[in-house]
Amino acid sequence: MFGFSLQKLLFTGIVIAAIFYGFRWFTEMQARRERDVRTRSNGGKPRGSANAGAAKSAEQDVETMIECTVCGSFVASGSARSCGREDCPYPG
Ligand SMILES: [Zn+2]
Repeated sequence: MFGFSLQKLLFTGIVIAAIFYGFRWFTEMQARRERDVRTRSNGGKPRGSANAGAAKSAEQDVETMIECTVCGSFVASGSARSCGREDCPYPG
């Protein structure tokens, strides 16, 4: 006969569904938290004039991340700090 019963098959299906929905829930929560942090950091500090375009202000809030050629860590180009190594190109 077959090596599996209907109950085992059903159980496997339920486990797979639980993992699938659990993963979806997890990614959803992560995305929500990320969105939450982003909106909070944007609303906390008003910058520029009030009549500035939303798209333009959002563009200003984004800081370009540049990779340190020595240590490989990413730092904001506006406030780059040394990682501590002597040959690090950034001040600190
Ligand atoms: Zn560095």
